[in-house]
Amino acid sequence: MLSELIPRSFRSRMAALFGLLSLLVGLPTYLYVSEVYREQLLHDRREYLNALANSAATVIAENLVERRREIELLAQTTLYRRAPLDSPEFRPSLERLKKSYPHYSWIGLTDTDGQVRAATSDHLLGASVAQRPWFQQGRHGIFTGDLHEALLLAKLLQEQAQGQPIRFIDFAAPVYDDAGALRGVLASHAHWHWAGDVLQAVRPHNAEELALDLFIVNRNNEVIYPENIPAQLKVPTPEQLRHTQSGHFHSWGQAPDNWYLTASAAIKNPVPSTPLEWRVVARQPEQTVLTDVRALQQVILWATGLAGMAFLLLAWIGANHMSRPLEHLTRIAHRIQHGEENVLFDGDFDALELQRLSHALQGMYSTLAAQKDSLAQSNHRLEAKVAERTAELQRLNVELDKQARTDTLTGLPNRRQTYERLEEEFVRFQRGHEPYSVLMLDIDFFKKINDNYGHATGDIVLQRVAQVLRQSVRDVDLVGRVGGEEFMALLPMTRLPQALLVAEKIRQTVANTPIEPVGQITISMGAQEVGVADQSKDKAVELADEWLYQAKKSGRNRVASELTPEATTG
Ligand code: GH3
Ligand code: MG
Ligand code: MG
Repeated sequence: MLSELIPRSFRSRMAALFGLLSLLVGLPTYLYVSEVYREQLLHDRREYLNALANSAATVIAENLVERRREIELLAQTTLYRRAPLDSPEFRPSLERLKKSYPHYSWIGLTDTDGQVRAATSDHLLGASVAQRPWFQQGRHGIFTGDLHEALLLAKLLQEQAQGQPIRFIDFAAPVYDDAGALRGVLASHAHWHWAGDVLQAVRPHNAEELALDLFIVNRNNEVIYPENIPAQLKVPTPEQLRHTQSGHFHSWGQAPDNWYLTASAAIKNPVPSTPLEWRVVARQPEQTVLTDVRALQQVILWATGLAGMAFLLLAWIGANHMSRPLEHLTRIAHRIQHGEENVLFDGDFDALELQRLSHALQGMYSTLAAQKDSLAQSNHRLEAKVAERTAELQRLNVELDKQARTDTLTGLPNRRQTYERLEEEFVRFQRGHEPYSVLMLDIDFFKKINDNYGHATGDIVLQRVAQVLRQSVRDVDLVGRVGGEEFMALLPMTRLPQALLVAEKIRQTVANTPIEPVGQITISMGAQEVGVADQSKDKAVELADEWLYQAKKSGRNRVASELTPEATTG
């Protein structure tokens, strides 16, 4: 199953292998790099938010200190220490200070009972502020008051906007005479727009684009700036911000997906004795941050992907380059397969292995070609030898056949050949009634010759008699040695009378040819013509044998047959 998925060509395999490798390397790299960058980016963003919150907190703290210092320093001037509280000089002094800072709404001086003795625009002049916290605490020392809604002043100020309550932050300082006795309290109320201006100064120019929000939160974790914040907004407490179990983002208690990257910085208290415990909180929506993260991840993905593609392309080109010489070698091998000869495994092989392979193939091919030639030659030689041996065998077979049918002593046809010829004659006779005659011959008293002259001389006698017999018959006739010193003469196309003439001639020739050292030799003969009633070829032979027996019985050296009841004698 798996093997079916593996491509078959070397080129595709290389490309697939490199593709897999680039995936194996690229994917973890992508995941790692993207995770690292994501973490880094989130970290950087939070650091940035922290820095933003810190700088906002610092600017606010410095501003608070500046406002406090202004009141404090004014309270220590000679005018405030010495002039009677109903002096007309107070009002211009207060007006000058108010002008110096646009967010001052009201600055006033009270006596020790809380009655306003001098004020900007004469607002609240003569009124009692004995119950105001800034008066009560300002009597004892420098005071910076928490944000509060304008109660007495609101009615007097033109700035009342859209029916919304005007809120102020109070700064107060005790006024002492030269002896150090309390004369009254000097206080300023700064319009809370002040906070907006301060934050505006630290807001980055692209805050809108980054969806950055800045908040000022009081000790009860209530948002005091901006104003009119929806009640369900829950600012994460410093405690919550310290714990980042929920990841980098914190819920602001609104819709479930309303999560923010959040940073908070405490605003340094301008007066340690009356701490404000405010802080600045900066936030950026999760969606905005993640959009950047995703954009970054996408860039990394593209970079990794393109690198992978380039790697794959290079692998493909490389594999192509590597497989080309192999295909070249394959083509050469095909030429050999199709019978081409004297092929050269040449080519421009730059790799050492391929050079070795082509040399090895060339060597193998040369060896095989040489072996093929030598095999062809040896086949040729073998065929010639086989032909030669076959001819020799045939010659030997002919010779053997001849030997098998010839009597070695006399060179006459032996008994086997004689009877084969007899068979042929009998068959011919049966077919065409061509008569033939059989002569059976036996040397007389041959035993004695052996006894007297030895077996070797007997053999010589046999050879001489054979010679005479051969010379005494026609070419068409056959004389064979059928026993020790017994012969048979076959006379084709010869009736008995002619046969008897031949027999007589033979008998006489033998008798008249003395053989050294034995002298005269005689033979006896039985003659018989083949009979129409004969059942087999043997019939005539048997009868001729019987006539031979008759010839012997009646004295030897004669021919006996049915025509010669009294056998002819020499
Ligand atoms: P007969 O006149 O009755 O024929 O008397 P014979 O002595 O010829 O008697 P017979 O035919 O029985 O004897 C044959 C002898 O021929 C016997 C054997 O020793 C001899 N003989 C047979 N074959 C050979 C042969 O190849 N060489 C020799 N030297 N003698 C043979
Ligand atoms: Mg005999
Ligand atoms: Mg004999």
